[in-house]
Amino acid sequence: MSTQAPRSARELAVRNPRTGQSDHVIQPLDAAALAALGDRLRQAQPAWAAAGVAHRAAVLREWAGRLLADPGPVVDALSRDTGRYRLALGEIQPLRGLVEGYAAMGSALLAPAAERPSVAPGIAIGTELVPYAVAGVISPWNFPFLLSTLDAIPALVAGCAVIVKPSEVTPRFIAPLMESVRQVPELAGVLAFIEGDGATGAALIEETDIICFTGSVATGRKVAESCARHFIPACLELGGKDPAIVLASADPARAAEVILRASVQATGQACQSLERVYVQRPIYEAFLANLVAAARRIELNYPDMRAGQMGPLIFARQAEIIAGQLADARARGAQVLTGGEIEHHGGGSWLRPTVVTAVTHDMTLMTEETFGPVIPVMPFDDIDEAVQLANDSQYGLSAAVFGEEAEARRVATRLDAGAVSINDGGLTTEAFDAEKNSFKFSGMGSSRMGPSGLLRFLRKRAILIQRGQAKTMADLDERGAAPGT
Ligand code: NAD
Repeated sequence: MSTQAPRSARELAVRNPRTGQSDHVIQPLDAAALAALGDRLRQAQPAWAAAGVAHRAAVLREWAGRLLADPGPVVDALSRDTGRYRLALGEIQPLRGLVEGYAAMGSALLAPAAERPSVAPGIAIGTELVPYAVAGVISPWNFPFLLSTLDAIPALVAGCAVIVKPSEVTPRFIAPLMESVRQVPELAGVLAFIEGDGATGAALIEETDIICFTGSVATGRKVAESCARHFIPACLELGGKDPAIVLASADPARAAEVILRASVQATGQACQSLERVYVQRPIYEAFLANLVAAARRIELNYPDMRAGQMGPLIFARQAEIIAGQLADARARGAQVLTGGEIEHHGGGSWLRPTVVTAVTHDMTLMTEETFGPVIPVMPFDDIDEAVQLANDSQYGLSAAVFGEEAEARRVATRLDAGAVSINDGGLTTEAFDAEKNSFKFSGMGSSRMGPSGLLRFLRKRAILIQRGQAKTMADLDERGAAPGT
């Protein structure tokens, strides 16, 4: 049987973020092709599930080993997708750790549970974990490989077959990736990455039993509604407007350096980017001076992709959103201290680290996701004010607090966010084993990280064994009923 996904006649042009040129074409799967793929994976999945967690881990280990031994084709394609090299390499490097981490977790979590007596006399309870047959993964353009595998690996370890639909904005890596999957035929029977756009993502929901979606709130809402119509679970990882609170007890120079990195890494195109900074008045000026100086030292990776620290804005429409937020902020009195203008080089769009002051919460820059390297900074006087400002958001993805550890920890517990980094930003991207939920509009469903990341692909089946006297109709005879019995 061919493991190559069938193709459709529809074609989509793909823009190169460094040149602005459409230099690639994808062929989204149509509904019939997707249904055929779903059927093929659904047929292969029972054997995959029955093979056991150790076997599944060995198959995934073989694939990861092959991919990481010859990462060139996938990394080159990811570099063309995203206009950056080091982060492209960094996206695939966690693969081995992800496989090993979930393999170890899987062998502990999927071990047969001992039978136990029920609180109901005479009945014993056995519990089985049953994977969903086909898991669907729909991923965004900012980290195309990482945000696909973060869900696909635990789903495969759990015993699901998986179809991944990466973003149509960054699809070049799919072909070389599937090439590597095909080198491990057993894996190719249960894992497919497919090309397609929003329509393909919508159609994928029809073919799957659980959906993991990473993307915007607007699309996440559509996905959740569609999943609800199909009665399948939706795990949603959505946008954020992560705040950082810098307490007077923090080292202003160190906090500025770290916050700069956590804000402009990946050109700010990361869900857990720090997008607003509240600094306690006594160190506000020192913090700002350090931040501005550090921001001015950052270089674009243009014209040489292997130089500088910041790549282009990947998605043309995002550049317009960022420019719109900056224009709105300026019109309302904000001061732009660095960067601030979308620069066009070689057909691509770049933005240097943009430090903005005199900001207020009536600016979209302070309330809507920017997804760019923009750092608005606001002073505050007391902690209650900082907590109120940080929580004044529809989002609750993550947050950061800088300062003396015990004090920072006390502030962290007051924040409406699923993860709070202390004296760093975005630590969820390093500690994949920290369980967290997304608060408010930043997501829905159980944690993607840690044991829940695996358990969300499994349903519990209870086996109830009657070892006492099973009831008969005699037990329902009205004449046998007496008060107190
Ligand atoms: P997006 O919502 O536009 O698209 C995400 C994916 O959904 C793409 O693959 C797209 O083709 C698909 N899609 C579009 N319409 C669909 C539909 N009707 N049904 C099913 N699928 C559909 O998001 P994006 O612009 O690619 O990504 C940026 C967003 O992702 C930002 O908001 C960012 O914060 C968020 N994000 C969140 C996390 C997280 O872990 N919380 C991580 C990275 C990015």
